[in-house]
Amino acid sequence: MNTSFIPYGKQDINQADIDAVVEVLKSDFLTQGPKVPAFEQAIKDYCDVEYALAVNSATSALHIACLSLGLGEGDWLWTTPITFVASANCGLYCGARIDFVDIDPKTYNISVEKLAEKLAIAKQENRLPKVVVPVHLTGQVCEMDKIRELSKQYGFYVIEDASHAIGGKYKGKPVGSCEYSDITVFSFHPVKIITTAEGGLCTTNNSKLAEKMELYRSHGITRNPELMTKEPDGSWYYQQIDIGYNYRMTELQAALGVSQMVRLDEFIAVRHALAKRYDELLTSLPVTIPWQHPDSYSGLHLYVIRLKLNEIQKTHKQVFDELRSKNIGVNLHYIPVYSQPYYQQFGFKVEDFSEAEQYYQEAISLPMFSSLTFEQQDVVIATLREVLCV
Ligand SMILES: *Cc1c(COP(=O)(O)O)cnc(C)c1O
Repeated sequence: MNTSFIPYGKQDINQADIDAVVEVLKSDFLTQGPKVPAFEQAIKDYCDVEYALAVNSATSALHIACLSLGLGEGDWLWTTPITFVASANCGLYCGARIDFVDIDPKTYNISVEKLAEKLAIAKQENRLPKVVVPVHLTGQVCEMDKIRELSKQYGFYVIEDASHAIGGKYKGKPVGSCEYSDITVFSFHPVKIITTAEGGLCTTNNSKLAEKMELYRSHGITRNPELMTKEPDGSWYYQQIDIGYNYRMTELQAALGVSQMVRLDEFIAVRHALAKRYDELLTSLPVTIPWQHPDSYSGLHLYVIRLKLNEIQKTHKQVFDELRSKNIGVNLHYIPVYSQPYYQQFGFKVEDFSEAEQYYQEAISLPMFSSLTFEQQDVVIATLREVLCV
């Protein structure tokens, strides 16, 4: 019998990670030292990108990404409804308005067809988005080539929310390379693929955007004389040339990040082995396994199944609750953002999001993390089989 709880996601910390953090604690810098640039360098090398800016969360990263693109009052930000609220909230922080594009029934990512349709209408109504945020749900990369084409055609910026997708690839290029976007954002929350406890990061190939994001993450303050409006008074001098925030990552977090990056490829390989096993072991059950777009090599943050409710005698909620009561830490990613109480004020209509609605009625995230053992995975499958009564 399965007695111990199996969560849906969990950090993977080894002795090297612990040593890296302890070393920082004994050093001169707990913040604003050498580890943050070292972490940023590791990401730049891995992602093959020009600039990387580490911050204290992906939420902060999304915020400074939007600010650097000039998103503000009167502008629109579009994203997918099947995401964490942060992908949309970043627009609200900037005073912009939010709209959603329904999902693709196969990938569960933003539907490129629906995006194209909605853009054509928005153009006529003169309310095109300034920023579109494709989210690589579960780690599966969105159809970025088509999204980039549309961005050129309609003149919007693209921020990839790659919170689920570090270590993944799109058409052979690392996620984060910004080949098809202006900025990419990562999250290092403990349930994600690598962790810094809390933490996030923006990548870009645009020096102007990098410069702005660097300002916004630390009060709008610069020490670069070239950016100052007048000659420095002396070597102590800094200038606040814009209004920014304190979104800095600490040295402890960055050291953990550097150490975690060493095992990123290993984490991804394990996740792929687990997903392959799930795919095989679930074939005889009344569930839809995750379909993978051939252009995408997923980071596999999540493994989402959809219940074939017409082949099951129970409701989605019953299956979910029974799995939880049997210590399988399933989850649901995500509640459609437009249905959140705070978003009700914006007057979204569920009829506009039929695929997202259906997804929400069927989806369940099974446990997926790099230290999940095959034995635990077998328990998950056996319990699911039992709950589904097949
Ligand atoms: C986790 C997550 C975020 C927010 O990440 P934080 O680092 O917790 O701020 C944003 N978008 C998506 C898709 C996420 O999964």
